[in-house]
Amino acid sequence: MRKLVAAGNWKMNTTLDSAGALASDLAKKVQQESSVEVILCPPFPYLTTVKEKVSGSSIKIGGQNCYHETEGAFTGETSVGMLQDIGCDWVILGHSERRHVMGETDADINKKTVAALEKGLGVILCVGELLEERQANKTNEVLQTQMEGGLSGVSAEALKNVIIAYEPVWAIGTGVTASTEEAESAHDFLRKWLTSNYNADVAESTRILYGGSVKPDNAEELMSQPNVDGALVGGASLKADSFGGIIDAAV
Ligand code: PGA
Repeated sequence: MRKLVAAGNWKMNTTLDSAGALASDLAKKVQQESSVEVILCPPFPYLTTVKEKVSGSSIKIGGQNCYHETEGAFTGETSVGMLQDIGCDWVILGHSERRHVMGETDADINKKTVAALEKGLGVILCVGELLEERQANKTNEVLQTQMEGGLSGVSAEALKNVIIAYEPVWAIGTGVTASTEEAESAHDFLRKWLTSNYNADVAESTRILYGGSVKPDNAEELMSQPNVDGALVGGASLKADSFGGIIDAAV
């Protein structure tokens, strides 16, 4: 009953030409009526082009980040309203590269999450532990802190517009995927967190994606887990055939 999601996080990759070509190829594949929700998150400068290329398909577009303020003297930042203005339905927040390369805290991520949801922009909220945290058996503790921090002040109603992405940091871009058991166990923990901090309805309806070296050949098994509702894909989302294979695995 939860519609599966295949989301592509293109990160700081592609060119104007290659972004347009990739979007066109995927638009041919994803029809108006699709049983999978496909979301493409290209770099900011290519969002408008990608949006044009996917018109006529059911593909949605999203930003990879945003700022919580509405407008003003915030050099280099992009507001929620700007993303909506060019047709974004989603924004990725709390990605591990924002947390660990750019130094974003749970408090920063929370401000952005609240700002996006207030304006009706959907949030793909990423959470996930570092390798040393997993080795120290702290995975659930880290997930709990990131969920509490990121979703502070977010109502059950607003949560309808949130997708959670579990992305163990050690599996991102490394070629190492969490085993289906590791993924399912973290997803199960996150769903239980939603039940105890919101309610059973919210927990049942919220999509929880897995991210971290998802490829066509491991996507089906990961997504067949009861609590895995799709994938947030980096590297393998940059080629139409590999991302297409992941979309097929979700159908
Ligand atoms: P990856 O990236 O698929 O290249 O591991 C996933 C992500 O960072 O969202």
